[in-house]
Amino acid sequence: MKLLAGNWKMNNTLEEGADLMEALIEGLPAEVVGDVRVVVSPPFLQLPQIVHALWENAQIAVAAQNGHAADGGAFTGEVSMAMLRDAEVDAVIIGHSERRQYFGETDSDVAEKVQSALRNQLIPIVCVGEVLAQRKAGTYLEDTWNQLHAAFARVNPEDMSDCVIAYEPVWAIGTGEVATAAQAQEVHAYLRAQMEATFGVSDMPIVYGGSCKPSNAAEIFAQPDVDGGLIGGASLVAADFIALVELLKAS
Ligand code: PEP
Repeated sequence: MKLLAGNWKMNNTLEEGADLMEALIEGLPAEVVGDVRVVVSPPFLQLPQIVHALWENAQIAVAAQNGHAADGGAFTGEVSMAMLRDAEVDAVIIGHSERRQYFGETDSDVAEKVQSALRNQLIPIVCVGEVLAQRKAGTYLEDTWNQLHAAFARVNPEDMSDCVIAYEPVWAIGTGEVATAAQAQEVHAYLRAQMEATFGVSDMPIVYGGSCKPSNAAEIFAQPDVDGGLIGGASLVAADFIALVELLKAS
C-alpha cells in the first residue's frame, strides 16, 4: 500500500487549517489520489473540524500527532487514544522524533502507545530514525531497528500489518537535508527484513520522512522498499502536498 501522510505539527489557526483542507479536498479527487492512501495530521484542536470537513470524502484519512497510552484518567493535559477514536480519527503518529527529543518519550512509552492505538482501532504510524551521531558512527541500522523492535515487542504479529512504519532520520527532519534515495532504501530494506525475520510480518507500509518535497521525492518514492512519505513542512502547502501525492501515485 502506498501512503502519504502530512504532519502539520503545531501549525495553522482553525481558519488556516480549514482553508488548507478545502484546497486538499479540491485538489485530491479520487482520480488524482488513485491507489495512494492520503492522511493529514492536524493539531488536536483542529481534529473535529477536519474530520467533519471530510465527512463525505473517503479519499483522505485523519491522524492525530500523539495520544496517551491510558484510555482515560487523571492525566491532566493529555488526550487518550480512546478519545481520538471517539472523535472518529483514523490513525495516530507515535514516537515522532520531536516527541522523543522534546518530551522525553522513551521506547517503552512508544510501545505502550502502539498497543493503546491498536486496542482503540487506530492505525499507529510508528516513527523511528537515527540521530546524526549514530549515522556518522555507522550504527544507524541497528539503532533504528532497536527502536522499531521495542515499539512492536508486545504487539500481536497478526496486528502488525495494520501498522505503518515511518523511517525518519532525525538529521533530515526540518533541516532541508534529505536522505539520498539509496540511504532511504538501505534502511527501509533492513527494517523490512528484520520485521520478517523477527515477527514474520513485512507487508506493512514503510514510509520515508525528512525534508521531502516535490523537487526531491520522485527518486525516493521510486525505491522498492519505500511505500510513501511522512511529510512535515511541505504538507502545509496544498500545492506541494498534492504534487507529492501525484509523484507517489506515479512511482
Ligand atoms: C516530520 O516532521 O515528520 C517531517 C518529515 O518533517 P519535514 O518534512 O519538515 O522534514
